[in-house]
Amino acid sequence: MKIIVSKYIGFCSGVKRCIKLTEELLKNKSKEVYALGELLHNNLEMERLKSLGLKIVNNIDDLPQNANVIIRTHGIKKDVFEKIDQTKIKVIDGTCPIVKTNQKIAIEYSNKGYNVIIYGDINHPEIDALVSYINPSVKYIVINSDSEIQNIDFISEEKNILIAQTTKQFSEYENIIRKLKQKSPSLKVFNTICKQTIMREVSAQKIAQKVDTMVIIGGKNSANTKKLETIAKQSAKVKKVIFVTSAKELPYEEITNCNSVGIISGASTPLWVIDEVIKTIKLLNGGYRCKNNHKKK
Ligand code: SF4
Repeated sequence: MKIIVSKYIGFCSGVKRCIKLTEELLKNKSKEVYALGELLHNNLEMERLKSLGLKIVNNIDDLPQNANVIIRTHGIKKDVFEKIDQTKIKVIDGTCPIVKTNQKIAIEYSNKGYNVIIYGDINHPEIDALVSYINPSVKYIVINSDSEIQNIDFISEEKNILIAQTTKQFSEYENIIRKLKQKSPSLKVFNTICKQTIMREVSAQKIAQKVDTMVIIGGKNSANTKKLETIAKQSAKVKKVIFVTSAKELPYEEITNCNSVGIISGASTPLWVIDEVIKTIKLLNGGYRCKNNHKKK
């Protein structure tokens, strides 16, 4: 069996940074460390951090007054930040700098009177936080596909900007940009899609042209991992796409019967989980040829 492992696997820089900040806080045992909601979309990594002492609350009213609180990679709403600021709680901002850039664009341009069009998923925590930074004096809308362009009732206005959720698919964004530009030539467009997710997508596309089975590793609640699954399913060569959160979920018979396997992960999947999956696939196949592109960090 041939195995191809993408070189774009494991944590992205934003997740790495957030986990490093959290681990440093946890080493100092003098204060309890809390996260507001899940820090990242991977249950196994969240369990590991909880075993080191991290506590999760969903409401700031549940935080003790002298706590340390780490902010998740997706960011939190403006009013929640402001409310914590009025307390003695120490905030450590784990918001990914790329997510932060999106928030800064929304603040700057809405303050200048631009309406904001966002290509994203309204139910995703990144978008939930992002919209809270838009100046309430302008209009905004979140669209999740080009079919929702018709819902933008301010498109004929002069001052509009377009931004995207950092983990959205770039090719879909290009399509939306093209269609919106036809309706609004003055539209200001910002490419806010994270390059690290674009590289993973390109890698998934390339590997999916060479194998009959793709194994996608990551949290089922991770938007960027689900997108990799969609990309793999679009390949004419791939017969089977297997999405697992850990090695335990691998369908042994299907893996044993395939000729070639491509392996890729979402941006919040730890390397130790990926290594277990690779090891299990190798064990299931006595004779294999593995093109392992990823370097252990
Ligand atoms: S995928 Fe990109 S935007 Fe999202 S946390 Fe990672 S580095 Fe930041």
